[in-house]
Formats: sequence, C-alpha cells, structure tokens
Amino acid sequence: MNCRDAETLIEAYADGEIDRPQADSVRKHLLACPSCAARHDELLALRTRIRAEAPRYSAPPELRARVHATLDAMDPRPPARSRPADDRWRWLTAGALAGCAATVLAWLVGTTFVDWRANEDLAAEAVTTHVRATLGNQLIQVASSDQHTVKPWLSARLDYSPPVRDLAQDGFALAGGRIDYLDRQPVATLVYRVRDHTVDVFVRPQSARAPPSALRTVRGFNVAHATGSGMDWLAVSDVSAVALASFVERLAREAGAP
Ligand SMILES: [Zn+2]
Repeated sequence: MNCRDAETLIEAYADGEIDRPQADSVRKHLLACPSCAARHDELLALRTRIRAEAPRYSAPPELRARVHATLDAMDPRPPARSRPADDRWRWLTAGALAGCAATVLAWLVGTTFVDWRANEDLAAEAVTTHVRATLGNQLIQVASSDQHTVKPWLSARLDYSPPVRDLAQDGFALAGGRIDYLDRQPVATLVYRVRDHTVDVFVRPQSARAPPSALRTVRGFNVAHATGSGMDWLAVSDVSAVALASFVERLAREAGAP
C-alpha cells in the first residue's frame, strides 16, 4: 500500500469502518510511514476532542413515554371482517398509516426534543441570570417585604401583573423584586431570603410550551419549577432542592389567592 491508497482509507480506518484485510494493510503502512501515522493520530485526537467538547443529549424519559404512547395509539387493529376484495385496500391503508405514523413520530420526537432542549437552556439561563444579579449587586431594585409595594412596582414595568406574596411564615421572607431578562423577555423577579440564602423567583405568564422538569440542578444551584395562578414560576437558589421545590409550589398555588 502506498500513501495515496492509505490516505483514502485512513478516516474509515480510524472509525473502524473497513474490513479486516484492508485494515491490516493500513495498519502495516502506518507502522512504516510517519506522515500517514501523523495524519492518523490527528484524526484520533480530533475525535477525542469532539467527544469531550460537543454536548451530548440523551432522550429524557418523558420523550420515550410519549413516543411509546403514540406508537401504541397507532397500532393497527385487525379488521373485524375480511373479504378478498378488501385485502388490497387494507394493505393500502396499512401503508398509508405506517407513513403517517412515521411522520407523526418524527414530528413528535422533533418538537419534544426542541421543547426539552429549550427547557434545559431555560434552567441554565435562569441560573446565569441569578448569579449575575448576585455578583453584580443588582439583586433588588425595589426593596420591600410588602407585596402591595412590590407588585405595583413590577406591574408598572411589565405588560403583565405578577402575583406577589410574602412567605415569611414558611421561612421565605420577601426582600423585594427587580426586572430581569429570561428568554430575551423582561421578567418579574421576586427576591426572597431564607436564613443566609437568596432565592430568585422568575414569574411570567404561563405558556403553552411543555413545562420544564420540576427540579434540576445546574452548576450547583437548584432550579425548581411550578405552575399556578396563571403563571410559570421558576425558582433558583442554593437552598436545598426539597425546600426550594416545596416553596415554589406553595407560592404558585397561593400567590394568586386573595
Ligand atoms: Zn504513507
């Protein structure tokens, strides 16, 4: 094997995609030829870097469940009666159904995946926003534990009116609020203190999008989500995940109550 032959095979060889006799010839050539060996090392290094640096996403369990549910729903039932004249028609409709199933499946996988990715990004963005506000001392623009002060201040600066509630009796004392940005939209941000921790709660009108998973951890911060009172509630803090989740659920449930 000469260098020109080797060159065309090195990539496939690095990926383990050529048959054994060819692989043996390439291997022999690499042992004897420093320049092809260097090219091969480069390819391996590149592959390692891509594995290490490219984000990898595995399908979340909700996606798997939805795909199974769709497949079950489209499971063709055997027809109750069968006449020879029906047979061709049955094959035709079965084929059309299979085509539909594939299309629906592709769409479902696509949209669920996009929703899921968007929500992963949203949790990460919420953490970034929280950290930036904390480090930059931009946490509170209206400092008050009084919901009747915080709510109108936020409403005056947004095109919606977020419910505001102090939960000091549960250990989550309202410290104030600010306008921050999430998803490139201004968002009402409520700031609570619990012992020496700070909790940011991003409140925005409930969207039709698939809700984020209830609880996540991003870079050591817990992110908890709840819906209620017509709003999406996204809380970020370094308080325990359990405490944060029960707080945000309670807030979503009770904030809108008179
Ligand atoms: Zn060579």
